[in-house]
Amino acid sequence: MCTILPNLNKKNKPNPLIEALIKKLYIQSNLEDNEMLYILDNITQGDLDIMSHYATLMRFKYYDKSIYLRGLVEFSNYCKQGCLYCGISRHNANIDRYRLRMDEILKSVKRGLALGIQTFVLQSGEDPYYTDDKLVEIVKNIKSLNPQCAVTLSVGELSNESYHKLYEAGVERYLLRHEAASPSLYQSLHQGMTLVNRMRCLEEVKAIGYQVGAGFMVGLPHQTNDDLLKDLKFVKNFSPHMCGIGPFICHPNTPLKGNKSGTALQTLVMLGLTRLLLPKVLLPATTALETLDPLGKERAFKFGANVLMPNLTPVIYKNKYELYQNKVLKYNLEEIQNNINKIGYIVDMSRGDHIDFRKEIL
Ligand code: SAH
Repeated sequence: MCTILPNLNKKNKPNPLIEALIKKLYIQSNLEDNEMLYILDNITQGDLDIMSHYATLMRFKYYDKSIYLRGLVEFSNYCKQGCLYCGISRHNANIDRYRLRMDEILKSVKRGLALGIQTFVLQSGEDPYYTDDKLVEIVKNIKSLNPQCAVTLSVGELSNESYHKLYEAGVERYLLRHEAASPSLYQSLHQGMTLVNRMRCLEEVKAIGYQVGAGFMVGLPHQTNDDLLKDLKFVKNFSPHMCGIGPFICHPNTPLKGNKSGTALQTLVMLGLTRLLLPKVLLPATTALETLDPLGKERAFKFGANVLMPNLTPVIYKNKYELYQNKVLKYNLEEIQNNINKIGYIVDMSRGDHIDFRKEIL
């Protein structure tokens, strides 16, 4: 049973105490633990307009109305890890495994470049086939297509040495969600992995100089408000440059089959709170949210999200990168732009670096 945000299905009138706390959070970018827990325990749909209002004001401080695009290339669904929620974990014997050839990766990137996209996220399961040298070759080839473009890797837990090598090869961003900052929740979901090692990776990647993405799932089985508080406190303290927040979506071919998924509303609340805690963070409207709610990305933009990651993986592979089922696969850039303009935002095709990483224009 999911025990988070227990009152969010209610449509009460706005609660003046929650409004005061959200305002305080907007002013201070932080709250006491008991104040944050009060929000998590008591928020209802009646409070969402206030949260959206302040989250939006906060995102305007640094990123105006821009929505940054990242082209996502899911280049391998082989994975040596056994994360209990994940459809591409080694436990799932029912999926076709694939690896993109170099020419297929480059073709995907070229397609993105032709659309005007300048930043690419290369994601995979933890696939030992990709040695440091192979990853370096991929990155160098992408950079040779366009030296200005930004390359993000998201290939899981590596050694410190590997993170250094990849940075030197030109990778400037690294995504590694912490998944769950509560040690007991993390441990219950990740066989053979430790939160300590996950944190080691995140700390190292940050110290090397990457723009770092952390993040977590909302609505995991047995997750509590206390666990969500730990996620919020972790992101506040670690202060990642990016933070991926999406609902847990239950996959029937995983050990978690039969559990409830998280909801879009829960995810929006966590997006709003994260924006208020981290004014400068880059916050994607995730595919998982859009999978649960066809209007999910537009809603996310109203709760502080400012990044969208259209999927550039070749059609024949993209439904095989099945972290969860019914993933939204179709992207039409014109349609995206129209929908974003309709709600008053602008698609920004620049590299969209975190504000602290932008080169000063003199
Ligand atoms: N191997 C890489 C990429 C993992 S997949 C890494 O370790 O970072 C990308 C993200 O998908 C994960 O970090 C996880 O948060 C999310 N994910 C996996 N299974 C999911 C599910 N069933 N529902 C929602 N999100 C899921």
